[in-house]
Amino acid sequence: MKAQPFQLTTLSQSSLQDYMDCAQRFKLRYLDRLSYPAVETEPTLENEKHQQEGEYFHRLVQQRLIGIPAEQIARFANTPNLQRWWENFQNSRELKDLTDLSDLLGLYPEATLSAPLGKYRLLAKYDLIALRDGKVIVYDWKTYRKRPRNEWLAARMQTRVYRALLVHAGAHLNGGKPFEPEQIEMIYWFADFPQESAHFPYTTAQFKRDWDLLIKLSEEVASVSSYPLTEDRQKCAFCTYRSYCERGVQAGDIEQAEAEMEAEELFDVNFEQIGEIAF
Ligand code: SF4
Repeated sequence: MKAQPFQLTTLSQSSLQDYMDCAQRFKLRYLDRLSYPAVETEPTLENEKHQQEGEYFHRLVQQRLIGIPAEQIARFANTPNLQRWWENFQNSRELKDLTDLSDLLGLYPEATLSAPLGKYRLLAKYDLIALRDGKVIVYDWKTYRKRPRNEWLAARMQTRVYRALLVHAGAHLNGGKPFEPEQIEMIYWFADFPQESAHFPYTTAQFKRDWDLLIKLSEEVASVSSYPLTEDRQKCAFCTYRSYCERGVQAGDIEQAEAEMEAEELFDVNFEQIGEIAF
């Protein structure tokens, strides 16, 4: 008997990005729930370690933001990458307010927001939402090995979803009043490029454009019946499903990936993957 596809009820920036990148990948990952048949890049062990360290770094920062003393956390930064990222975080002038003046800010680390989107719920987990001087700043920590271009980041579903959803679902953080798009800014802070954070302010026109796109995508996802393989075969070299799609067995090399693509989204941190650390 043929397995029924999974009934999808939520959408996220990751699932929508997959849908935009390759409809087949979206189907395999979110409807068929196919587990990962192949590694995404070589060398595998090194990349896995980098990803785990990225997840661990997110946990360390989250613990700091809820008030655990830095000295207590520092001893958990126990690999060269973690030590460097932690030092960069501690020494960042841009982020200093978040820990030194935390009583003056509304800080919401690892906040989850959701809102109806067509027949789905749109869900996002934020690294940090910070309220300051009538502004609301969305922070996202990135442990990329390469600083992506701002144009690439601006077009990502994460940048669009996080800001638009904050308008739609953030009123409870603002005394019951929805945030104006102009109050919102999204900041990507790069643990290996601490002086080169990327800032994305927001406008009402951008919000309208983003929400219209999200509605359109949700309608498409709800009604689509065919899931073509991407024509951009470069995406397949770094995709876990490439052997399934007969798009090659050999994993792409990370150095080649970085040379050819902006993306280290392969190593992006997903909160669902992050385990607890006992402090
Ligand atoms: S291997 Fe290529 S075609 Fe297949 S799911 Fe991945 S990106 Fe899409």
